[in-house]
Amino acid sequence: MSLDEIKSHIAKAETDAGREPGAVTLIAVSKVQPNERVEAVLEQGQRCFGENRVQEAAGKWPDFKGRFTGIDLHLIGPLQTNKVRQAMELCDAIHSVDRPKLAKALARLAQELGHCPDLFLQVNTGEEDQKAGVFPAEADSFIAECQALDLPVKGLMCIPPVGEDASQHFALLAKIAANNGLDGLSMGMSSDFEVAIAQGATHVRVGSAIFGTRGG
Ligand SMILES: *Cc1c(COP(=O)(O)O)cnc(C)c1O
Repeated sequence: MSLDEIKSHIAKAETDAGREPGAVTLIAVSKVQPNERVEAVLEQGQRCFGENRVQEAAGKWPDFKGRFTGIDLHLIGPLQTNKVRQAMELCDAIHSVDRPKLAKALARLAQELGHCPDLFLQVNTGEEDQKAGVFPAEADSFIAECQALDLPVKGLMCIPPVGEDASQHFALLAKIAANNGLDGLSMGMSSDFEVAIAQGATHVRVGSAIFGTRGG
C-alpha cells in the first residue's frame, strides 16, 4: 500500500468507529528499511516514525533530522538501561517502558536532562514468556509506580500474540488504560491497525504495509 492508501484506511476506520478525524497518529515503522525508502516517505510528508533499536535509530535519524523539520521519532522496541540516555536524547516518545528498573532510570535522567519523552507502558496482554511488558494483573501498580516517579505516562502499548484474535488484546489494553485514566493506546500494526482503531488506538505502528517487506 502507498502512504496515502494507509492514511485513507485510517481515516475510514476512524469514521467507522465514530471517532474524530485525526484521532489516530500513524507511526511509520522504518526499522531495517533502506534509507532511500525512508527518505521517499519523508518526501511524501510523513514526519512520525518508529524505530525498534536505539543503535539503529542513532545511525540514521540525526542526519534525517538535519534535513527535514518536524520529525517525531518513537522508540517502539526493547530498551536496555545502559541506552536510556541516548534514547532520551534522540526520541520524542518511548513505547516500551516495561519494568520498574527502566522506569527508575528514566526518572533519574529526566531530572538530569530536564526533559522526558512521552512514555507508553508496555503490557504483555498475552502473558507470553518471551515478550516484554508487565502482565495485565501488574499493570495498575506499574502505572501508579511510574506516575509516582513523575514520569509523563501518555498511555499503554501492546503487541498481541501471533495467531490470536488481536481484538481481544486491544480491548483488554483499552480497559486497563480507561481504568487508570490514561488516553493513549499504542496498538495495531500492518495486519490489524483497523481493528485496533475500532478498539480505540491513538497510535498505530505500521511498517511493512508502508515500506514493503523488511529485508525483501
Ligand atoms: C516492527 C514492529 C511494528 C511494525 O510491524 P509491521 O507488521 O511491519 O507493521 C510495530 N510494532 C513493533 C513493536 C514492531 O517491532
